[in-house]
Amino acid sequence: MTEDSMFDLTGRVACVTGGNGGIGLGMAKAFVNHGASVAVIGRNESKLHSAVNELESLTSPDKVMALQCDVTDRQAVEDTFKQIASQLDGLDILVNNAGVNRRADEPHLLSAEDWQYVIDANLTSIHTATSMAFPYMKQRGRGKIINIGSMMSIFGTAYAPAYAASKGGVVQYTKSCAVAWAKDNVQVNAILPGWIVTEMTNQFKEAFPDRYAMIVGRTPAGRWGEPADLGGTAVFFASSASDFVTGTAVPVDGGYSVW
Ligand code: NDP
Repeated sequence: MTEDSMFDLTGRVACVTGGNGGIGLGMAKAFVNHGASVAVIGRNESKLHSAVNELESLTSPDKVMALQCDVTDRQAVEDTFKQIASQLDGLDILVNNAGVNRRADEPHLLSAEDWQYVIDANLTSIHTATSMAFPYMKQRGRGKIINIGSMMSIFGTAYAPAYAASKGGVVQYTKSCAVAWAKDNVQVNAILPGWIVTEMTNQFKEAFPDRYAMIVGRTPAGRWGEPADLGGTAVFFASSASDFVTGTAVPVDGGYSVW
């Protein structure tokens, strides 16, 4: 392997859950630009359609696909991975990125339904997708699993206790899989995005101007991130460059978490 080829993803097949927008699409574009075949999955059909159009503009159309799939539905995930592996020829890279949030003024005010909705989408779905993807990787003799955490994997928040619990769980789950599958040449790492402008957060500036200003003020980089800011770390974790890196959780946050 030369230094140039270390980040090359040619011949690798990636699936990005929630890859039809925001951070997921940012990572999917970076994979495509490094030569990978990429499948994005999500629930919203029109977002899937425009995501695949964007990806097709960057590579050969037979190297990208978009599939409707709810990651909380085990059967749907199993069927979707089968389709991806058959159409794109295997599955080497899984990015567990799909996520949701539900807020309440204080933890005890978050309803049981909202709690379950967030845990199912952010945490249980990762176990489902990872369990379904691992056999493809084992068969291939290599694999990369990238789980998307959050600053809430590190910090607590009064307003989003289920989100914080799920994202804390993502890091521990990452470590457990990393320990289990090092012997199979499957590396498992987490990325912890800082504050990134996406559909999930784009109301934030208007709805909570004081908190928006506080975040910018305490971020050494002095700005919110963009989905493209996640691309480099995602390519690193997806590529041979990270073959001896497993079980880590790397903040991509403009320095927000270091002080
Ligand atoms: P978006 O809302 O833009 O993206 C979330 C994605 O998850 C959507 O593409 C959505 O697809 C998908 N999704 C949600 N639930 C399901 C489901 N049940 N099945 C399939 N797909 C689902 O937000 P972001 O891009 O910001 O979020 C991406 C990840 O990054 C999340 O895990 C989030 O927690 C994390 N993150 C975001 C931060 C930020 O500041 N933006 C900070 C830290 C972490 P669809 O619309 O089709 O349902």
